[in-house]
Amino acid sequence: MNQPTQHELPSYLNPNDLGPWGIYLEQVERVAPYLGKLGKWVETLKRPKRILTVDVPVELDNGTIAHFEGYRVQHNMARGPGKGGVRYHQDVTLSEVMALSAWMSVKCAAVNVPFGGAKGGIRIDPRKYSQKELERVTRRYITEIGMIIGPDKDIPAPDVNTNAQIMAWMVDTYAMNTGQLATGVVTGKPLSLGGSLGRVEATGRGVFTVGVEAARDAGIDLNGARVVVQGCGNVGGIAAKLFHEAGAKVIAMQDHSGTIYNASGLDVPALLGSYEPQQGIVSTKAGDTLSAEEFWALECEILIPAALENQITVKNADSIRAKIVIEGANGPTTPEADDILSSKGIMVIPDVIANAGGVTVSYFEWAQNFSSYFWEEDLINDRLGRMMRDAYQSTATVAKQHNVTLRTAAFISACTRILEARELRGLYP
Ligand code: NAD
Repeated sequence: MNQPTQHELPSYLNPNDLGPWGIYLEQVERVAPYLGKLGKWVETLKRPKRILTVDVPVELDNGTIAHFEGYRVQHNMARGPGKGGVRYHQDVTLSEVMALSAWMSVKCAAVNVPFGGAKGGIRIDPRKYSQKELERVTRRYITEIGMIIGPDKDIPAPDVNTNAQIMAWMVDTYAMNTGQLATGVVTGKPLSLGGSLGRVEATGRGVFTVGVEAARDAGIDLNGARVVVQGCGNVGGIAAKLFHEAGAKVIAMQDHSGTIYNASGLDVPALLGSYEPQQGIVSTKAGDTLSAEEFWALECEILIPAALENQITVKNADSIRAKIVIEGANGPTTPEADDILSSKGIMVIPDVIANAGGVTVSYFEWAQNFSSYFWEEDLINDRLGRMMRDAYQSTATVAKQHNVTLRTAAFISACTRILEARELRGLYP
């Protein structure tokens, strides 16, 4: 029988099209030359520690039985229990969940929260099912993955199409199955069930905090600085509000309905106050409308993609006239576009740092659950600010040391931390 060589991947990781997992592997390749002696462990980053695929059978309201495919991938747990959201979407694939779990390993290590990386997903279009059906899907999924999750093992959280209510069902199902209420089994819970103050705003606040640091490094005065934001949801909306409060001019915001623009700056609180997500930002009539091409080509100091992945691509990267791009969304810039932005001298604060505010306050939530002692919001925001500033500054230092982009620097710091823990722990048995 052929034994796999050290660099040969198992067949399930090696089909012709690796999808998002392939992008992650490319990123690891870029970092490998900077890992020095730890490079001998790099192969562990290219293989998830554990992949669980589960069947989720559920009785629908009409009495028929539907089956959904669910996943939980634990990419790396050298530094702590797994951490990562659960996504409900009809296009969820194993490759996507594997890549998202790996990016969680990198994100947690990059901002130095003591978690490994994990992610979950169910291939389901939640819009087609009732609340009762979604509750049954959630309870069965958590039961199926129950043997590998727990407050000390792997801690799920909300992601696309999952929310605080779904987290509450997860806590309850885990409690019923184990016979004890351990609220720290998931984060992103409602406040009345062990959730944390500041969690809802945490990601947008983190985006703002690293933006302040980067603007200072780039010699940009935030007062009057022009800011352009894609996404008016949790991340984009909060970030826009905080930049506005700091004296910046948010000149354009875009959502699924289109773009609203005002060269003198939008009245962000009024705009968001009357914003109906279903109807979209264009219906607010808070400014002029722009085409997507015009939106990306706006001259500004700070551009914040905070909506979806793959938004800055070879098609629009060359037209971008921002000085700083802050990635509020996960994976908004393709690797080719990243190279274009870098060649134009645009500073990109990568997602693994820029949007890590969410997982940082999830860490605070988990810590509060262990002690059953809850912190005031000021303390949470203060600690979040400190961790985000430290992460940005240490990444900027590594970038200067090696003359690389902030993204490569964040990967160097993160992979070094993960592999140091790996080496210290050694191999068992
Ligand atoms: P959200 O659902 O609250 O908001 C998403 C926004 O994107 C909405 O305003 C929507 O209209 C807009 N949008 C959708 N399609 C669009 C399109 N085609 N063009 C322009 N805009 C479009 O989501 P969110 O929680 O703000 O998350 C946004 C991104 O940030 C995602 O990539 C998510 O993975 C990432 N992220 C979120 C958190 C968090 O704590 N919420 C943490 C880390 C990363």
